[in-house]
Amino acid sequence: MSLIVVGTMAYDAIETPFGKTDRIVGGSATYAAYAASFFVKPIQQISIVGNDFEEAIMEDLRERGVMTDGVEVVSDKPSFFWSGKYHLDMNTRDTLITDLNVLADFKPVVPESYQGAEFLMLGNLSPDIQKSVIEQLRERPKLIILDTMNFWMEIALEGLLENLKLIDVLLVNDSEARQLTGEFSMVKAARKILTMGPKYLIIKKGEHGAMLFHGDHVFYAPALPLEDVFDPTGAGDTFAGGFIGYLANTKDISFNNMKSAIIVGSAMASFCVEKFGPTRLQELTREELEERIQEFVDLVQFEIDLSQ
Ligand code: AMP
Repeated sequence: MSLIVVGTMAYDAIETPFGKTDRIVGGSATYAAYAASFFVKPIQQISIVGNDFEEAIMEDLRERGVMTDGVEVVSDKPSFFWSGKYHLDMNTRDTLITDLNVLADFKPVVPESYQGAEFLMLGNLSPDIQKSVIEQLRERPKLIILDTMNFWMEIALEGLLENLKLIDVLLVNDSEARQLTGEFSMVKAARKILTMGPKYLIIKKGEHGAMLFHGDHVFYAPALPLEDVFDPTGAGDTFAGGFIGYLANTKDISFNNMKSAIIVGSAMASFCVEKFGPTRLQELTREELEERIQEFVDLVQFEIDLSQ
C-alpha cells in the first residue's frame, strides 16, 4: 500500500510566547511524511529543496521508509522559507515572511516508480502544482486528500475550486471554511463545501479538535487537553499525515474508519506541538503513540443511563 505525499520541505523561523527559533526544518510534506511513516511504507515524497537542505533530514526520512526520488534538489537556490509569530492564544499567528525561493518555479515530475499509488495527500501548495500531480497519475488513487490555506484562497481561488472537484477529502481549519463559504456556522459551511466536490470534509479547530462531515453525518474528535503547547507549527500537516497514513495502513476508507483515523491524526498532532518544528515527531516511539491514543479513547468514553 503506497502513499504519495506532495508539499513543501522548508526552513521556518518561529516565534511563540514560549520561545523562538531562527531556523528549523519544516514544510507541509516534511511533517506529513514524519507522521505517516508510523503507519505506512513506502511514502513517496514529492517536493523541492534548495542547496541548504540538510542531507541528515533526507536520510532520516529515507530510514523511515520515505522515498525521495520525487524530491528535486536545486543547486543554486535556497529552500522555501517561512516565518511566523504566534499570538498568546496559540490558535492564531501572523505570517512574517514567505520566501518562495525554489518553490517559485516548482514543476513537480511524478517519478515512474510512484505510478499506481493508492493514496495521495496533496499538502499545502499552490493549486496549480497540486493539480499537475493529479493529472500526471495514470491511475486515479483510491483516496485523494487536499490541504490548503487562506493564502491560496486569496491568490488562487479559481484553481482551488477546480481542484475541489477532483478530490475526496478536503482539510481546512475553521477560519478557512468560513473564508471559502462566507458562512459563520460550521454546519452551514460544511454543507456548502460538500456541494463543491469533496465527499468528505475535515474542519480543524486547533485546541478544540476536529470535525468530519460526510453527507448528513458528523463526527467530532476533541484535541487532547495538553498542559503545554509549545509550538503549533505543522500540527495540521501532522494531523493529515497521521490521518491518511492510518487509512492507508488499514486499507479501509469508510466513514467509520475515518473516525478512527481522525483520532490517530489528533494524537500525532498532540505530539507535534510539544516541541519546536518536527523535533518531537523525530523522537516519538510507538509505545508513546499507543499510550496517547488510549488517552483519547478514555477522554471521550462515558456511560449514560437515562432509565431512572
Ligand atoms: P501548518 O502549521 O500545519 O500550517 O504548517 C506549517 C508549515 O507549512 C511550515 O513548516 C511552513 O514551512 C509551511 N508553509 C507555510 N506557508 C506555506 C505556503 N504558503 N505554502 C506551502 N507551505 C507553507
